[in-house]
Amino acid sequence: MAIERTFSMIKPDATKRNLTGAITKILEDAGLRVVASKRVWMSKREAEGFYAVHKDRAFFGELVETMTSGPTIVQVLEGENAILKNREVMGATNPANADEGTIRKTHALSIGENSVHGSDAPETAAQEIKYWFSDTEIVG
Ligand code: ADP
Ligand code: MG
Repeated sequence: MAIERTFSMIKPDATKRNLTGAITKILEDAGLRVVASKRVWMSKREAEGFYAVHKDRAFFGELVETMTSGPTIVQVLEGENAILKNREVMGATNPANADEGTIRKTHALSIGENSVHGSDAPETAAQEIKYWFSDTEIVG
């Protein structure tokens, strides 16, 4: 297995409930290392651009509204098999379907307010990291 980097977000529903540390601890305990991190309040344009792949979905408006409703922690995580590992630790998109012990099972409120984002493949991880970070902001 290779050391990979993935892109992660702690979404506004979680930062509003002061869960930045609790969620980061779950990621770290799973063997993922935070090699870049910043707190942003995304603009409508940034949220629409980041989630452009979903622009034709019925939930797109709600998604952009939720993501611009408060601060988000954007992070780069590094570790063995980081992309898949992060998706496992996050749990299913709908917390009702998420496994016990996952971030979404433990902390998410609903499918729309599901506390975290994680890249789903090497290509999207590279794109998403680049969307939020310059190379000099990532310190492994
Ligand atoms: P994931 O975040 O697990 O990769 P998707 O890429 O399918 O899930 O969706 C992106 C985000 O859009 C989800 O995390 C969630 O915040 C939101 N979303 C997805 N499906 C719905 C839905 N049916 N209703 C409301 N929001 C949704
Ligand atoms: Mg996704």
